Amino acid sequence: MSHIIHRSLQSTPLTAVGARGIHIMDAQGKAYIDASGGAAVSCLGHAHPDVLAAMHAQTDKLAYAHTSFFTSEASEELASHLAAHAPRGMDKVYFTSGGSESVEAALKLARQYFVEIGQPERTLFVARGQSYHGNTLGALAVGGNEWRRRQFAPLLMDVGRVSPCYEYRGRQDGESQDAYTQRLLQELDAKFQEIGPQRVIAFVAEPVVGATLGAVPPTPGYFKGVRELCDRYGILFIADEVMCGMGRTGTLHAVEQEGVVPDLMTIAKGLGGGYQPIGAVLVRAEIIEAIRQGSGLFQHGHTYIGHPMATAAALAVQKVIQRDQLMPQVRSRGAYLMRALQAKFGQHPHVGDIRGRGLFCGIELVRDRASKATFDPELKLHARIKAQALANGLLVYPMGGTVDGRHGDHVLLAPPFIVSEADVDQIVNRLATSIAQVLAAAGVA
Ligand code: PMP
Repeated sequence: MSHIIHRSLQSTPLTAVGARGIHIMDAQGKAYIDASGGAAVSCLGHAHPDVLAAMHAQTDKLAYAHTSFFTSEASEELASHLAAHAPRGMDKVYFTSGGSESVEAALKLARQYFVEIGQPERTLFVARGQSYHGNTLGALAVGGNEWRRRQFAPLLMDVGRVSPCYEYRGRQDGESQDAYTQRLLQELDAKFQEIGPQRVIAFVAEPVVGATLGAVPPTPGYFKGVRELCDRYGILFIADEVMCGMGRTGTLHAVEQEGVVPDLMTIAKGLGGGYQPIGAVLVRAEIIEAIRQGSGLFQHGHTYIGHPMATAAALAVQKVIQRDQLMPQVRSRGAYLMRALQAKFGQHPHVGDIRGRGLFCGIELVRDRASKATFDPELKLHARIKAQALANGLLVYPMGGTVDGRHGDHVLLAPPFIVSEADVDQIVNRLATSIAQVLAAAGVA
């Protein structure tokens, strides 16, 4: 038995010994197509020569210098790069070592901002159900994944909760898309009113929902409406783009496609593409200016923020994305992936929904397409699909989300941006085979 406290304490995962491009190799020499980029992390695939070269060069120069004494060239250059490509005005950058840390920093920045400008009565966050914002206590509190929260609920701060924008399950029969969107916005407005809008710090949401729902994009106008409501009450809008950001949906930031600018935006996974642990918060300059003119100090920090190895690797990743013009490629390959999923699963009796943006796609499994009834959670279909795909040399990210207190199964795909059309065909074929095998074994097919 391993000495590592793995997530499952009943089994030890495979040992990865190497990786190249879109493949990861295990200790037995078996290759797996990394069709989920881990958890939407590996945007450039593995062992990209430009990133490896930048990392080697940085090791020779400077591995670490504590940020209370020093900044570094790599960190400054990465921050400038991010600011230059950020939504308008979001040109301040706070580095972290991952997604949860970015969410924690964003929550604290937002709170400190209101203290500094003389609104200390703002103490509450509002966030959505069936969302995931990380596993540290603050991030877990704003997240709406009941399964992850349950044991820790007594330790978590109170958060105002509203419904996610989840058209497949949320829009009622006969309700137009626009009416559904307006209903969600009314619910958010009512929640602000119930709490007292002057007590709310920020609304936190994933522009395209990742882990809990499986690549669910918002309805048109939803985030425009969110922005308007937040502006009406002076509430900040924090976009959590840890999973859907940094090019995954076909634009560098997913909110670009919604035509809104958040006040704070968390990024992580695709920022460093898995070459180093790194995350960041992009912040509107006015927020930082208010803190600068107030106490002059963000009351936060971790030992490894702005780690030169991490920022050098992330800078190399982001430069390759620009140089190789990978955004148009994500859009075209993403469209190809969507067509391939529709061709394979569009008529499948147990696939209720196919959705996503760019190379961030999901399918949702149902017992019955007409009623959208979910499978019995005891079948643990999502876990079995993960295991079967693994056996078939495919890494996908299946999850069981909670749907109206019941369980729903979905599979998330987030392949590297360098994936070819032939790779996409292979991914979809292996996924279809894996699902067919699991359904047959479960006595469903
Ligand atoms: N926010 C979102 C939207 C995420 O998807 C995740 C990770 N799946 C996190 C935060 C937490 O990131 P990390 O696991 O790097 O702490």
